[in-house]
Amino acid sequence: MEQIKTLAQAILHFADSENCRQFMVFVRWPDGTPKCPYCGATKLTWLAKAKVYRCYGDHAKQKFSLKVGTVFEDSPIGLDKWLPASWLLSNCKNGISSYELSKAIGVTQKSAWFMLHRIRVAMREDSKSTLGGHWQNPVEVDETFVGGKAVNKHLGQRKQKERKTIVMGMLDRESRQIRAKVIPDVKRETLQAEILSHVGFNAYVFTDGWVGYDKLSEYKNFTHKTVNHINQYVDGRVHTQGIENFWSLLKRSLTGTYVAVEPFHMDAYVDEQVFRYNNRRNKTDAQRFTKLLSQIAGKRLTYAEVTGRVGGDAS
Ligand SMILES: [Zn+2]
Repeated sequence: MEQIKTLAQAILHFADSENCRQFMVFVRWPDGTPKCPYCGATKLTWLAKAKVYRCYGDHAKQKFSLKVGTVFEDSPIGLDKWLPASWLLSNCKNGISSYELSKAIGVTQKSAWFMLHRIRVAMREDSKSTLGGHWQNPVEVDETFVGGKAVNKHLGQRKQKERKTIVMGMLDRESRQIRAKVIPDVKRETLQAEILSHVGFNAYVFTDGWVGYDKLSEYKNFTHKTVNHINQYVDGRVHTQGIENFWSLLKRSLTGTYVAVEPFHMDAYVDEQVFRYNNRRNKTDAQRFTKLLSQIAGKRLTYAEVTGRVGGDAS
């Protein structure tokens, strides 16, 4: 993959189905041996024309494509389009609209919209470690309002306006890793429950002066420092400029690329921006793309789920 540097090269590379097969085997089975998703067998035959593996195990579905068991499962769209689409979403700083994607790879806008949502599911990262660690690292915590009409939360009321969504973010300034998600309100119990589950012992936690962050230092041996936005007074390393920079990126994608995002879908757009932010340092486009593809397995998104036609929440 390292020889591929541009979208044009990726499109050319993945136009060859053997290249798609080799790449999918590489990201799905790091040991290089494909396994049957139904019985785990490794005695398989690749049927190049049909682009499926055949398993000889004693079970119903003996043929399976490389999309089975991933976010691409059951899609009639080929890997020659899925892989360039994934390349685009992992590397375009402000995201890519369904209109742009439909033109770029030659699918309908409706297909492109659904593809982008499936890729965002792969972008959602499981948080395995806490931020701040045991090293007294600074963690910036903040919330922002997205969608709807902008209000200055620091000067105005923090009341949620109609169709406005609240996103909370936490940035570990040393590792440059962000966790962000939609939260229902800015009450103390909501904000502090998130901080407690994501920030490790002894961390330095930097927030603004919102009352919801009061008494944070009572937990986990946190050192809590607040930033005064009105005076723009910056006390050395006590600032939240890193997470505010992330909000700018998120808002640019929401106003420039994605218009009229429903609150229902907001978490998916946040996941997308977090993925690019957390993987932007020390990675080439090809490495960021490969990282994304390493996260496609074991996740599904049906059309009914993404259009809200089944129960459950927006995530
Ligand atoms: Zn099998």
